[in-house]
Order: sequence, then C-alpha cells, then structure tokens
Amino acid sequence: MSRNPRHPARSERLIERPEHLALALFGDPVLRLPARGIPEAAFGSPELVTLVKETLALLDTFPSGVGLAGPQAGVPYRYFVTSCDGLRVALFNPILVDPDPSAPRALGPEGCLSLPHWGGLVDRQINLSVRGRNVRGRWLTFSGHHLTARLFAHEMDHLDAHLYTDWAIPGSLRADPEPPELEETVEPDPTIGP
Ligand SMILES: [Zn+2]
Repeated sequence: MSRNPRHPARSERLIERPEHLALALFGDPVLRLPARGIPEAAFGSPELVTLVKETLALLDTFPSGVGLAGPQAGVPYRYFVTSCDGLRVALFNPILVDPDPSAPRALGPEGCLSLPHWGGLVDRQINLSVRGRNVRGRWLTFSGHHLTARLFAHEMDHLDAHLYTDWAIPGSLRADPEPPELEETVEPDPTIGP
C-alpha cells in the first residue's frame, strides 16, 4: 500500500535499481553477476523510459563512450544502450542472432569505460546481429559490422558477467602510456570505450 498511488513506494518498483546511476568500475561485484531479464510488466512503463534516459545520460558523460550495459550503470538487468555512428539504441533482453563460430573474425583494440585507461586486443566476429526489445517491448534486430559488431559483442558480454579482459590476447593489455591527469571524476579510456 502506498500513501499516494501515483507514486509507488520503492519496493513496488518493477526494476530494482540504485536511486542515482553511476559507473561501476572494475572490481565492483555487479560487473561479475549475470544480469536478470527485464520483467514483462516493465515494458512500456514510465519506469523503463526513465531508465533508458538515465543510462544514455550516463553514457553521454563519457566523450569516448559508445555503449553501456545495465550492470555498468549498477542496474543488474539485461539491457544495453549504444551511441555510435548515429546509432542510438536501447535494447532489452537482447540475444545474439545465429551465432556462427565459423564466421569471419578480426583482432581489434578494445577498451571499457569500467576499466579506464586500459586497452587490449580482442578477437571478435566482424559481423554480428542482435535481437532484443525496445522500451515498448517491440522486438528489433540490429546487424552490426566491424566496430558496431564489436560493440554488440562487448555489451552482450557484460550481461553475462564477462569483461573484454577475459578474452584479450595474452600480453596485449596495456595501460594508456600517457593517461590524462586524474581529476575529481574518472575520465574514460581514449581507445574504443564501450
Ligand atoms: Zn565495457
């Protein structure tokens, strides 16, 4: 029961989330917990719309950031947002479409906002499609190539509690040779930073 039915108590929320979203950094347990599926009742809710806006706003605070997964925002649910080459997407309960172990792959540099100032080489599929639901629950499919495919794979990994460092070529992990001076806020990795 709530005093005001228009403003449900926190316990009545459809999504368990922190009051204010903040970037989870390497070592935060939330990055190593498999994310939960978004409940059906949340689709189309103002709560989910707000979550998308706040997650994109958090991503936008990092100039080199191109993607952010729910756990990175401290929200342990299966969704990610991207803002890359004009592709601004929020995808919920995403799945890989026909993952193909024999598909062409490429080694490329990768970084993560949750591990500022580090980068490494990761072998990823060159073409990758993901299927997921938008904020209203409609199913959508996105096909990514090169950087976008790498971005999708990276964000999907976050939902399964993996970090790119799990797959990086041994010895390829490097700290930025000239890291920017640390200010009060942590600056993002200058390499690709999904
Ligand atoms: Zn990441």
